[in-house]
Amino acid sequence: MSSWRFLPVALAMVLPVLLCVGWSWFHAVGEVRKDASIAAGVVRVQTGTILTQARELLVRLVDLTAKDCGEALPTMQRWATLNPYVRALILAQDDRIYCSSAVGATDYSITEFHRWPRSMTPAGWLYTAQGTPMAPDRPAILLGVPGRDGRSGAVVVDGRNLQDIINSVATLGDFQIELTLGEGAPVRSASWTDWAGSVEPVYQEMTDSMNGAKLRISVVVPPQALGLEWQKLLLTYVPLSLLAGALLAWAAYRLQRSRQSYREQLRRAMAAGEFHVEYQPVYSQVTGRFEGVEALMRWMRPGTGLVRPDIFIAAAEQEGVIIELTQHLLGLIERDMREWDTPPGFHVGVNIAPEHLSSEDLVPDVRAFVAATAARQPLLVLEITERSLIEDSGRARRNIDTLRAEGVRVAIDDFGTGHCSLSYLQKFPVDYLKIDKGFVHAIQPDGEEALVLDVIIMLAHRLGLSVVAEGVEQRFQFDYLTERGVAFIQGYLFSRPLRSADFMAWYAGQSRPVVPD
Ligand code: C2E
Ligand code: CA
Ligand code: CA
Repeated sequence: MSSWRFLPVALAMVLPVLLCVGWSWFHAVGEVRKDASIAAGVVRVQTGTILTQARELLVRLVDLTAKDCGEALPTMQRWATLNPYVRALILAQDDRIYCSSAVGATDYSITEFHRWPRSMTPAGWLYTAQGTPMAPDRPAILLGVPGRDGRSGAVVVDGRNLQDIINSVATLGDFQIELTLGEGAPVRSASWTDWAGSVEPVYQEMTDSMNGAKLRISVVVPPQALGLEWQKLLLTYVPLSLLAGALLAWAAYRLQRSRQSYREQLRRAMAAGEFHVEYQPVYSQVTGRFEGVEALMRWMRPGTGLVRPDIFIAAAEQEGVIIELTQHLLGLIERDMREWDTPPGFHVGVNIAPEHLSSEDLVPDVRAFVAATAARQPLLVLEITERSLIEDSGRARRNIDTLRAEGVRVAIDDFGTGHCSLSYLQKFPVDYLKIDKGFVHAIQPDGEEALVLDVIIMLAHRLGLSVVAEGVEQRFQFDYLTERGVAFIQGYLFSRPLRSADFMAWYAGQSRPVVPD
């Protein structure tokens, strides 16, 4: 038994852990992104509040653009003092500033602001700047409004408040935050590092509604922080997934053990003599006598009762013990036949599984059987399935050729239930075609034509094959089949499969040719 057998067990062990590692990574990213979006939300709301207040001032400032500085200044100074966020209010004529709440009447070029570069006049301002002429190192938000005759007003919002908010929000999650309004310079958290600009932010949002200017907030997280979050989740869930893996592996192992032990059970059942054979007579329409039997295996399991043959045969095929089982069967038939007094040439049908048919064992197994039953000189009929023909790689064909040359015959069992068998029939030399009981049961009591059945019978005759019909339970089925020249009939109409001793007794009572009534 190769070590491949342990692959499912190993997979069952490892798979939950792998899933957990993958899942927790996505979960970690999701968690960090959620926190980042909350942080961004705080910054967005605060920016909104500041901008709303600035906007109010801006609207009122429009009226002041009609006045000269002396007249407007007291009002501007009062507004600037009362509003906590405002650094200065400005009035400009084209691109020259003539009045400022901070310095009073003045005359300097708007280009002073171009160090925090914007070539527009104040009328088009709405952006974040890294500084202003009066406080070059403190961020600001500049908002402007057009007035009359080339004049404009502007509000310079001090960025300190915004900066503080960004800084404190950033500490919530090892974040590096950047906020940009309009086409301006970003306001960045103190935690901002050089590489932050070159990596993909874990969270980014773009809002259009900020008084017509785009507000962009990006949150960057250092890989270590993500790794840490991931690690945290792994520590929680890996032990659980290890446990799940262990449980799964244990289940897989148990399953394998029980499958393996099914093979063992079949072997033990053989050794314990739990199998026996039942024989179902086959009637020959030509001679009016019973010319043979089909051997059918039975497993009487202590404590369970009869196990259905199609179930344990399929299991034996799957578990690779079908050859052993058939060898055992042949031994049982040999033993039974020592008591029989059937004439030479009496047909004994044995079902042969595909694996056996294409194995090296078949020829020696059959030869040994023929030798052991030589006293009775039975005519051995191997019942093989269409599947065997289709799957054959050459060995089955050679086995069939060898054995037929030695007088063994071959029947195709369950004909018509497989597929594409016609072409194979021409290639494989066989002797009988057993029509599946499904087709026999399709015969109607009123004698109406069973088309498929008729075609199969005709085809078999064309190919020179004798037909065996199985599952014949009713007289009208018998009549229908014999009318169409079907040579052999098998079914409950004559007899159910019988234990060897019962079969002998039954057979002894059939000395004269019979026609069922
Ligand atoms: P199969 O080779 O087609 O066997 C014929 C089945 O039809 C048998 O079922 C038989 O009992 C049943 N039968 C016989 N006459 C009638 C009837 O008039 N009406 C109905 N409804 N059924 C009838 P069984 O014995 O249960 O076997 C089922 C299948 O198990 C077999 O189908 C065969 O494929 C497999 N099998 C049985 N014994 C062996 C064996 O020794 N070796 C192998 N490889 N397969 C076997
Ligand atoms: Ca059969
Ligand atoms: Ca059959």
